[in-house]
Amino acid sequence: MLNSVKALRVSLSTMMRRKVTAEYPKEHLPLQDRFMGFPALTWDEARDEPFCTGCMVCIRYCPTQCMSAQMTDNTKFADGDSHRKKIVETFEINLGRCILCGICVDVCNFDAIEMSFEHERSERLRDANRVDLPTLLDMGKAYQEESGWKQSKPNAPSPKEKEVIAAAKAAEEAPELKPEAHPASGSPDPPEDAPEDAPEGTDADNRAKKEGETP
Ligand code: SF4
Ligand code: SF4
Repeated sequence: MLNSVKALRVSLSTMMRRKVTAEYPKEHLPLQDRFMGFPALTWDEARDEPFCTGCMVCIRYCPTQCMSAQMTDNTKFADGDSHRKKIVETFEINLGRCILCGICVDVCNFDAIEMSFEHERSERLRDANRVDLPTLLDMGKAYQEESGWKQSKPNAPSPKEKEVIAAAKAAEEAPELKPEAHPASGSPDPPEDAPEDAPEGTDADNRAKKEGETP
């Protein structure tokens, strides 16, 4: 009898306990802010293009050699709309081989790759987890939106923006806006030793003028 009461008490306390597990995949526990899922490529809204230039640094450092990329000339740079001379053309990560180490993120100098919240990519086929550039950019955009991601430093000015900056600077330094230069010194201020009221003519002229005035 005593044992039955004890068992009932244990059952009741277990039933009342707060649930700490979820019935995955029907239920999902909330992800923490610092959760590291698969790497994804970020999108530059200001330039409307990827941050990635295809420089290959992350690819050289990846310990599992699961990444590949190609770069190309950026047509937006030629048009003056972007500061990036080169841009990524193709990018692939085999997420089946990625060990989520985050080294690619650490070595990238362009804010171009982040460890996203994406973590559910189980597939039946060996090569089905190879993801291409559009997929990586979609993952990156979703991550940027969910996390409120911000780039670490502002973009350098594009060629068109540089022209606008140069024109504004030239307008600031325009000669008509500056005071006229003094003929003696070339500076807007008169030279220190210049007489305050200069005589109108030479000494001889002044003497002749005085003599003419005498009756
Ligand atoms: S993600 Fe970064 S390091 Fe990797 S290729 Fe792109 S710009 Fe280079
Ligand atoms: S997280 Fe690590 S293993 Fe995965 S792609 Fe980046 S460097 Fe390679």
